[in-house]
Amino acid sequence: MHYIAVDFFKDFECVADSCPSTCCAGWTITIDEATRKKMIAKEDILGVPAKDWLIEKDGRVMAKLHNGRCCMLNDKNLCEVVLKLGPEYLSHTCTVYPRIIRKYGDVQEIYLTLSCPEVIKRLMACSYVDFDFGEDDLPGDKFEHKELYLFESIVRNELMAVMQGYSNVSFVTRVFACYQILEIALKLYNNNCLDFEEFDRSISLYHNENNLRAYELQMQSLQMEEQRYTFLKSLKNVLKTSDSSAPKESGYEKFVSYFKKTDYQTYLSDLGHFRERMKEYEDFWSKYLTYRMFSEFISLPDFNGARTNLLYIAAEFCLIQAIALANYADNQGVLTEEEYILIISYLSRTMEHNKSFHTNLAKNMEEQGVVNLAGLLLMTFV
Ligand code: SF4
Repeated sequence: MHYIAVDFFKDFECVADSCPSTCCAGWTITIDEATRKKMIAKEDILGVPAKDWLIEKDGRVMAKLHNGRCCMLNDKNLCEVVLKLGPEYLSHTCTVYPRIIRKYGDVQEIYLTLSCPEVIKRLMACSYVDFDFGEDDLPGDKFEHKELYLFESIVRNELMAVMQGYSNVSFVTRVFACYQILEIALKLYNNNCLDFEEFDRSISLYHNENNLRAYELQMQSLQMEEQRYTFLKSLKNVLKTSDSSAPKESGYEKFVSYFKKTDYQTYLSDLGHFRERMKEYEDFWSKYLTYRMFSEFISLPDFNGARTNLLYIAAEFCLIQAIALANYADNQGVLTEEEYILIISYLSRTMEHNKSFHTNLAKNMEEQGVVNLAGLLLMTFV
């Protein structure tokens, strides 16, 4: 098989009723036709006629929701279909989640979505983001974007190596180096020169610890807190209009209220304490960015889209940190790991399932003038 998979994919297991959230609530659960037929055939064992819990809308069959929860989810957050019939009776949607497969020709790129809190826990617990490879990871000669995919994969590998490889250099300096490497790759691409060796030679400046240390001095002199505060304040409209029904665990409400009422000086003071509190997550932030680069970076058929992808990843990271800060400040300087995980998980859920979120975020980023290197640094300046 041709694949690249995040290494903790193979032994991922849903923790079911131990999950601090549940993927069986808060969104539409589509039921495929084969599962619908099985539910009709087994309704005696299930104890519920299929017509009472499977509804049809716009040509799609879905599980009925009660208070936003799948009606097959019991009070203990366990699925009645699994309990009474077994996991093999789950619908395709329920069986696959949180697994994601992206196909590029013959290659499958496999990962787990961060809307599942257990995946975030795994990412926090691993020492670095590692991958498993199939017998080959090439897209095959028939794939029309083969050459570009291979070039983008090489570039992505370099970005991930810089992000995870220089832990003695600050996070923001590594982000800066990633952007510069990407710009070099885009220049070659836009000159119709997908030359791997030329790329390798050109990026050596940024793939060197001594040089990165020199850049680090420049990063330390960056003064961008005031612009960052203005940008974060502007994001409250993005969240407010994107997901007004988000549960309190998402932290959205506190974020909106915090950036409505908090002046710059109070924000600075809160941020200082928050940075101290969050120091233990520095490794996680590198892994988060690496993980998102693996899943979101590739941009076919136009590689120029990769720059936008990187900036979106940074904006989403920035939003996570800002929501966490607001909740930390509102809770008198307390933010538990579980709360932090739920903030990341709900934001990922919004990103995955709310089309208006990306549109609003992109519009906001344009308006705030952060679609550039300065914006990237501002959004990752933790
Ligand atoms: S969100 Fe993840 S851990 Fe929680 S119930 Fe769903 S698959 Fe299981």
